[in-house]
Amino acid sequence: MIRRRATRQIHVGPVPIGGDAPIAVQSMCNTQTSDVEATLAQIGGLAAAGCEIVRLAVPDMAAARVLSAIRAGSPLPLIADIHFDSRLAVAALENGAEAIRINPGNLGGPDKLKRVVDAARAHHAPIRVGVNSGSIAKDILARYGYPTPERPEALIESALDHVRQIEGLGFSELKISIKSPDVLTTIASYRLLSSRTDYPLHIGVTEAGGLIAGTVKSSVALGHLLMAGIGDTFRVSLTRDPVEEVRVAYELLRALRIRERGPELISCPTCGRTRINLFDLAERVAAKLQTMRAPLKVAVMGCVVNGPGEAREADIGIAGGLGVGIIFKKGRLWKKLPEAELLPALLAELDHLEAEYHHN
Ligand code: SF4
Repeated sequence: MIRRRATRQIHVGPVPIGGDAPIAVQSMCNTQTSDVEATLAQIGGLAAAGCEIVRLAVPDMAAARVLSAIRAGSPLPLIADIHFDSRLAVAALENGAEAIRINPGNLGGPDKLKRVVDAARAHHAPIRVGVNSGSIAKDILARYGYPTPERPEALIESALDHVRQIEGLGFSELKISIKSPDVLTTIASYRLLSSRTDYPLHIGVTEAGGLIAGTVKSSVALGHLLMAGIGDTFRVSLTRDPVEEVRVAYELLRALRIRERGPELISCPTCGRTRINLFDLAERVAAKLQTMRAPLKVAVMGCVVNGPGEAREADIGIAGGLGVGIIFKKGRLWKKLPEAELLPALLAELDHLEAEYHHN
């Protein structure tokens, strides 16, 4: 059993973060924010995949101004990602961003930070204080050194220093992220931060890499932290279509039995016993499952050695043979079909089960 660390709760639009709220899944658009149509299309895809909060880069005033149009068409609350220019943060809030992500250290001084905090207060928007290992203030680096797994203090001190400045302005609707591209530093940093604050934490490994490297790094770091009860919202950072980030996020939550969304696919790796084109079959079934919400277990297995056993455990499953396959449903042999008919029969039954789920 995972016991969540107690944190305060804030809201990003309608989505609660922290406290007893479900761990929220976030992603970030990689469209040009000023391209409203493309950004809304991507937000739509993210929402369909289960993303609950979306972050948008706001690098210039054109991007800040179009947030009102994006806000009007977005099913997800928006976090404006701001660097260097406090005016962009104010404009983003005026144009409907539900929250902002800033690194208070690069806004240009206390007056500018105050202007941003005043705007956040006026618009009832929380602030994510985001510190990356690459952007720690020089005096803190001089005191603590570059953050490492053995000495992560610089990240924590940097973030808490910013938090104290904002608290000094009478504002406490905050969440914190302290990101590093290094897995062990990420783990050590968040563990220490979590022992020092009860603000909700946004966890993640920054610049984690492509699908394989990024998934592994994020799974190790976030898996460790989530199992320790640390983390109230997270983004899996991948050099990919952000929809993939959301899929990986839900696989991670499912693996830890924290949250489930949609069906689960169990498929074997294939071996010398496989006599059907299982890669193709599994890929097509996986694509189908991505469109579904029913919490089914679906097995796609290459042979009858482990196949029927796994398939029987599943709500529905295939075990391949030589030119044929068997389909099990709810633990019983349902059909034996030629290979070419297996996929159509399974897809039709998945449609049926999905319709049943929505009906009930
Ligand atoms: Fe090989 Fe069969 Fe196991 Fe698949 S289920 S890996 S085909 S033994």
